[in-house]
Amino acid sequence: MYFSKTPAWIIRLFSGLTWRIPEEKPVIYLTFDDGPHPEITPWVLSLLKNYNAKATFFLIGKNVTLYPETALSIKAAKHLIGNHTFSHKDGWKTPLSVYMEDVQKGESVITPIIGTKPLWFRPPYGRLRFGQLRQVKKKYRIAMMDILCGDFDTTKDAAFCIRNIVENYQNGSIVVFHDSEKAFPRLRETLPAILTFCQENGIQCKKLPE
Ligand SMILES: [Zn+2]
Repeated sequence: MYFSKTPAWIIRLFSGLTWRIPEEKPVIYLTFDDGPHPEITPWVLSLLKNYNAKATFFLIGKNVTLYPETALSIKAAKHLIGNHTFSHKDGWKTPLSVYMEDVQKGESVITPIIGTKPLWFRPPYGRLRFGQLRQVKKKYRIAMMDILCGDFDTTKDAAFCIRNIVENYQNGSIVVFHDSEKAFPRLRETLPAILTFCQENGIQCKKLPE
């Protein structure tokens, strides 16, 4: 199970993590997990460009080694790239040393792409044990999320994802999408609809602060 909208008590309990960026103005932070993907990521990039939107991509290191050109094109389009581990390990099921190795391995393939160590990290599945959290926090800002749009959920449709974002967003919300094959049947309609919604309502789509 997962929360579409992260409850306030979780945000209070894990206040060392970034769930939302305080913003006075209408801004949302679009984030895309699990890429790069050789077809879906370029599709996302071209849509973002059409709407003059910026976003943050949390890349899986293994996918960067498979599709380095796609990863480079994210950087070239001036979006932000964060670390999403090398092999998408579930923190709840992974011992600390193995987890930290995977974080490091992800970092080592992303760093040459962006020319510097990534600043932001997002744990796969949003799951971290406290020990992992302590270690990762020494090196990274940890981006959690205010809204999981649900594009990865094969029991949902795009209408659900769109409604979820439109009804729940607030200024500074961090919204999670996935540039993955699994999510694409929903992403295909959700992303253009959300970008149009933002444009019509004067909401700026930004990448996470650097
Ligand atoms: Zn992921």
